[in-house]
Amino acid sequence: EKPCLQFALSGATHLVILPPSTLGMLGGGQLGRMFTMAARTMGYRVVVLEPDVHSPAGDIADEHITAAYEDPAALDALSRSCAAITTEFENAPAASLTALSHQRTVRPSGTSVAIAQDRIREKNFLRDNGFPIGPYAAVEQGQTMAEAVRGLRFPALLKTARFGYDGKGQAKIASLAEAESMRSHWNGIACVIEEFLPLKCEVSVVLARGANGEARTFPVAENQHRHGILDISIAPARVSQALQERARALAIQLAQKLDYVGVLAVEFFVLYDDTLLINEIAPRPHNSGHYTIDACRTSQFEQQVRSLCGLPLGDPSLHSPVVMVNLLGDAWADGEPRWDAVLRHPSAKLHLYGKREARPGRKMGHFTVMGETAEAALAIAAQIKKDLAIT
Ligand code: AMP
Repeated sequence: EKPCLQFALSGATHLVILPPSTLGMLGGGQLGRMFTMAARTMGYRVVVLEPDVHSPAGDIADEHITAAYEDPAALDALSRSCAAITTEFENAPAASLTALSHQRTVRPSGTSVAIAQDRIREKNFLRDNGFPIGPYAAVEQGQTMAEAVRGLRFPALLKTARFGYDGKGQAKIASLAEAESMRSHWNGIACVIEEFLPLKCEVSVVLARGANGEARTFPVAENQHRHGILDISIAPARVSQALQERARALAIQLAQKLDYVGVLAVEFFVLYDDTLLINEIAPRPHNSGHYTIDACRTSQFEQQVRSLCGLPLGDPSLHSPVVMVNLLGDAWADGEPRWDAVLRHPSAKLHLYGKREARPGRKMGHFTVMGETAEAALAIAAQIKKDLAIT
């Protein structure tokens, strides 16, 4: 089948990819699914490369290439059928993105993804560019814990440098001895160790940046976690206007420093004196930006399509205060939850990702509640959680 590509030039060098061109997605998870929905709504075709036979994105794509993310033949097939390619998870092999970029537009770049997927590179990048971060030490493979943590205070959090997510690959540590024993439990792999900070709250900024440098931020979200996994996001965040503006400005500066094109998420810690520290970045749409689907004029996924395709970015403004609640596999302990608990509320929206197996801690879906105020939306969200027996 011939790929259906239709390009239009606007200006001398700016390439715009228009529907019904085909877009490529490396990864088949829920973020890829929501991208696929946004892209298909706009009339694009989507090809997903994902090894799992059944996946949230692969199941609804126009085409699913079932192969490993590093498979050269599969990458070649992806780049031949697509006008532009993006990714949906930060552990996408940066080398695959870089290889694809030799033939096709790839956003974000393998270089940006490589920084975001390695906590040591990420922290060092933030530090070297003067961004505010908490005290940390990098513990490289082969380095001893004692020499790495000199000057760092306990309690601390030890985090694997790679492949950690949703609180996995993290341990709270009270002493050097504990840090050493946890690290040997992890077979001496590279880690970062961070001072455990007293947090007033956590917020995040999702933004999109185009190839022309135009950047637009979504409203700041306030995030509450349980067991290291995002539980609730509230937008707009209940923090001062000044703090929101600082967070948005920092996120844009960071995207500029990375020369980033695409959707980028920046997670922040807020200390009790309103100090804002960058926790981590994600080179893709983010769980804390799911509220944008229902509550913003443009969703983070449409913005991902727009930045990938060289289109002008959409209006990210909020049309209603909103609360997003994650639905984890734990809610399936007694079988399929009774979804009328969500659907009976006219201001609530249900999103399920089509995953076939519910496991504790696995993100299966989310719901959002819009309200006149964040407090009103929170009250309905709390009622729904109770009805679904989500603790
Ligand atoms: P992370 O995967 O690094 O985003 O960590 C998951 C969650 O653990 C964060 O959203 C915080 O709630 C908490 N956390 C991580 N690092 C720290 C820290 N240095 N101090 C206090 N809490 C932390």
